[in-house]
Amino acid sequence: MKILSVNAGSSSLKFTLLELPEEKAIISGAFEKIGLDDSFYTIKYQGKKDKKEVKLESHTTAVKLLLDELINYKVIKSYDEIDGVGHRIVHGGVNYTKSVIVDDDVLKELEKTIPFAPLHNPAHLVGIRSFMEVLPNTPMVVVFDTAFHQTMKEDEYLYALPYEWYLNYAVRRYGFHGTSHRYIAMKMKEITGEDKKIISCHIGNGASLCAIKDGKSMATSMGFTPLAGVIMGSRCGDIDAGLIPYVMSQTKKSFEEVMDDLNKKSGMLAISGVSSDMRDVEEGYNNNDKRCVTAINMYVNRIVDYISMYNTKLEGADAIVFTAGVGENSDVVRKLVIEKLSFMGVKLDEEKNSTRGIDGEISTKDSSIKVYVIPTDEELMIAKDTYELINK
Ligand code: ADP
Repeated sequence: MKILSVNAGSSSLKFTLLELPEEKAIISGAFEKIGLDDSFYTIKYQGKKDKKEVKLESHTTAVKLLLDELINYKVIKSYDEIDGVGHRIVHGGVNYTKSVIVDDDVLKELEKTIPFAPLHNPAHLVGIRSFMEVLPNTPMVVVFDTAFHQTMKEDEYLYALPYEWYLNYAVRRYGFHGTSHRYIAMKMKEITGEDKKIISCHIGNGASLCAIKDGKSMATSMGFTPLAGVIMGSRCGDIDAGLIPYVMSQTKKSFEEVMDDLNKKSGMLAISGVSSDMRDVEEGYNNNDKRCVTAINMYVNRIVDYISMYNTKLEGADAIVFTAGVGENSDVVRKLVIEKLSFMGVKLDEEKNSTRGIDGEISTKDSSIKVYVIPTDEELMIAKDTYELINK
């Protein structure tokens, strides 16, 4: 069966066409910097990677281009060859604890989840609707990033807020990037042969850390929305909620405007004054740009804070895993993070760390906690869920 896995992020849209149950990726690609002037897309096919620079005004533009390219690359003769499309959904809201097949009711429910993840869920819906238009007879499945974290205990997911907020409005920590953290847990078991105590660092444009024990999420840095936790591309991460009314009164901005600032104008973009894209901030860091240096230092500090916290929660982690755009590609961020943990005996193999496209262990033999880079494969997890659901 040919399953198309779609991952529409805040500024990117990744796809993989997979053969299931063989779990074989046929063609994949990524549309990046959507909405920015220097947008481009890359397609990987038969070991070759083609890059095309093209203005990607919106996710809709990217989805249409993706389908056109599948035909252009002759991987399918007709749309009928696609047996299912699995879509990554950041927030499943209150009702979804596992993946489901899309129907009209599901679409309506997804609309209601938009306030939970204003940067991501609208992009997912655009993706789903565009695919449904072109492939009206193909089953669509949605896979929720919140599902993996449903194993968190009550004392982990509750906030110290009025209890009725939880009972009546389901105010609690949900956590995100669950599909990626679930993949890391699966992959680490394949590599080490057992369920290790893992600190999974999914650091991309959005970023979250997850403490994994016995293959299950026991804690994660994002919260009720993906705004919480470590510093992200344009999101602030953890802040004191008390500053919101103060900023509103000082700036005369509305609550919505301030929230928009927290989601879209904060994080690395705000501190660096350059960009939300780590590649640009790193360039400034390497050129000793003061604000870029501060931004990277803050970014690293917050990751180290969470690693330290989760190391305690896990009563001693076995492994730290870096994944997603920054985690997989930024040897600078990895080095700075691990250097701050060196007092605990965590040691990086500098040569391995600076190897481009590294996949595997990057710590020295005598490191107290093993460090890995594992390229995430949310597409495979989404395809597996899609395959299982449409064959039920
Ligand atoms: P999302 O899916 O949340 O949009 P990704 O996982 O695609 O995010 O990660 C995007 C981030 O990865 C961007 O900040 C980008 O700059 C960063 N990134 C990609 N390649 C590199 C690289 N070579 N060095 C540093 N950062 C990189």
